Amino acid sequence: MKNKIYRLDLGGELIALPDELDGSYNSADAMMEDVKEPSIFLIDGLKTEDDNSLKEIFDVVYQLRRSAIFYASPIYFAKSMGNLNSFVDGVGSTKVDILPYASEILARMRNISIEANATNDDLRLLTFMFCRGDAYSLSPIAFVASPWIYEYPAAFLIGAFADTTIQSAYRFGPFADKKSFKLTMRNSTEWLVSLCNQGFLATMGLVDRIRHCPHCHTGNLNYIDSCPVCGSIDFLKKKMIHCFTCGHVAPEETFKNGMLFICPRCNTTLRHIGSDYDRPVESYGCNSCTERFIEPEVKADCLNCRQKSATEDLEVRQIYNYGMTAKGKRAAQFGVIDFEFSLFDNNRNVVPQYFYQVTDWLLQMKMRYSDEDFSLLCIKIVGLESIESTAGMSQFKNIIDELATRIRELVRLTDITTSTGANTFWVLLPRTNLKGGEILASRVEKLSDIVSLENGAQINIHAKCFSIPDEYAKRGPVAEMLLREFEAILSEVR
Ligand SMILES: [Zn+2]
Ligand SMILES: [Zn+2]
Ligand SMILES: [Zn+2]
Repeated sequence: MKNKIYRLDLGGELIALPDELDGSYNSADAMMEDVKEPSIFLIDGLKTEDDNSLKEIFDVVYQLRRSAIFYASPIYFAKSMGNLNSFVDGVGSTKVDILPYASEILARMRNISIEANATNDDLRLLTFMFCRGDAYSLSPIAFVASPWIYEYPAAFLIGAFADTTIQSAYRFGPFADKKSFKLTMRNSTEWLVSLCNQGFLATMGLVDRIRHCPHCHTGNLNYIDSCPVCGSIDFLKKKMIHCFTCGHVAPEETFKNGMLFICPRCNTTLRHIGSDYDRPVESYGCNSCTERFIEPEVKADCLNCRQKSATEDLEVRQIYNYGMTAKGKRAAQFGVIDFEFSLFDNNRNVVPQYFYQVTDWLLQMKMRYSDEDFSLLCIKIVGLESIESTAGMSQFKNIIDELATRIRELVRLTDITTSTGANTFWVLLPRTNLKGGEILASRVEKLSDIVSLENGAQINIHAKCFSIPDEYAKRGPVAEMLLREFEAILSEVR
């Protein structure tokens, strides 16, 4: 089958020669109206004079990537457009430049149901990646316009995050409604983390580590030093003097008396540095509360919500490249995203068999050292499917991510989790007795309330804490059997 190249002419100087092309259009709409089979799009007539031209180019690429037919198509620029290049598949104006890679993409597109896979954004992104081959990975770019600092260009377009980023650029000050901000303002990075947690993507190398505001989760932070006592930012470095006669330490200006240094406490005239006085480390003096201190306190001031946070409270985000997993490829090939989700990231989530072994081992440890108590938390989530149908996929995703984040926050003390069935999760709580575990369970159950919806759809979270009675320790491995019994108990209680 012939691989066709269609030009989209944006009205500037044309670079590609007509015999390299199979057609030319003056607007994306006209092109999308006409072209019906998988084809290559060459954006030519690129103008670079001003920001309006750049916006026009970006909008055209965005329109194609958001279209239900062309979202996975190879898109090229006829000449380099600098930072915008990362939003397309490549730069080139001849078949020799374009065809080697673009033909591979088209060949894979022909083996897949492009339109059927356009039903949801997850599937679109996985299909886009699948068409680009096994070696393809999504790489982040530092994107100054985004409140989240890093974005993934392809995901940014396909998932329609450009709109929210552009909107947020025009908002100033704290958001009036923080809850709606959190639920609607998502970015491409969070999306990929969520697809990774669900097993469709895998991390392919760490690129950077950034810190986010713990209140609104954006990353434009100003690190500001302030007085550790009153919090004022109005302080100055002060030269200090230490009087040897009486031990008084104070800023130099309090000793000054004409040309002399006279100690304000003992009235000694200080003549010789080293024998009468010395200068201890420089310190700071606060102009608001007069406190002196050696080290100012550093806080991160969030430019989005204006909350100030201690640096150790910031959220640490690892920024990775992402590639596809076998599960992700299957989803693209068969056009089905299995309905399951993961509460815990893949690094901590282990297969059930391993979870049982660790549980049995901990039980033996508890027999030998009686202070080594532990308990097991079971979480079952009910009602997810109904939310998906009443609220729609994108709202549903937001709810799930919110829920997963909250649960992870509550149980972050642990290292080992597993999932034993549809929406059933186990968390191992080391050094936690049954009572402590029960408190945690009731907190997890209360999270049901945060995800209730206006139209009455409701997620129910059932959580119960279990502890294995000592007498089981003599019986050999019992965890697998007991955990199944516990799960049955949790289901019956309701
Ligand atoms: Zn102060
Ligand atoms: Zn003195
Ligand atoms: Zn913030």
